[in-house]
This record gives sequence, C-alpha cells and structure tokens, in this order.
Amino acid sequence: MAQTDKRQCASCGAPDMAYGRQNVSRDFEGAALTILDVTGWFCSACGELEFDSPESARSFLEQVTALQRQRRSTQANSLNRNVTPSVGPSSRAASGIAQSIGDRSTNS
Ligand SMILES: [Zn+2]
Repeated sequence: MAQTDKRQCASCGAPDMAYGRQNVSRDFEGAALTILDVTGWFCSACGELEFDSPESARSFLEQVTALQRQRRSTQANSLNRNVTPSVGPSSRAASGIAQSIGDRSTNS
C-alpha cells in the first residue's frame, strides 16, 4: 500500500497535512528562529510539523541549538557594546577607591 500524500494533523485535526520540505519559523525562548530545509509533514491550518524520521527531527534540533547559541553570542556582543560607554561612573568610582588606597599607602 502506498502511503497517502496527506495526513491528519494531530494538533488541530485538519485532514490536509502535506509532505514536503520547507523553511520553518518557530519561537524558541521568545526568539523567532528559522530552520531551513525541514523535511516532514506540514499542517497548513495551524503550522504543526511532524517529522518523517528521527533524522529530520535531529537535524531540526541541531539547527535550533546552533541558532540559539548564535543568538546568545550576538546578544552578548551587543550587551558588551552597550555596557562599554556606561562603564564611566563605576570605573571612576573604582579609580577613586584605588586613589584612596594609594593615599593611605603613601601616608603610612
Ligand atoms: Zn494543524
């Protein structure tokens, strides 16, 4: 028996999930990630995705992990950039402390 090229969506019950390869946009930890070339069953009604094999599930997750790592490192970079100009007051305070320590050591 040949498999039908449509299947029912387990999520919303729509009868017309279509098999194919697509780029999938999903929200992970509040970030919209786009996973490329995902093979599986796609529901046009609710966007549900069913993997056709453990391999496609694994490659999907690998891309998600890589994208999350990438996102975290770009986030860290932009944080560093934002922090640098505002370091002023605290570095001034730090140098003030260093100065008072220096004064004390010259006094003694
Ligand atoms: Zn659905």
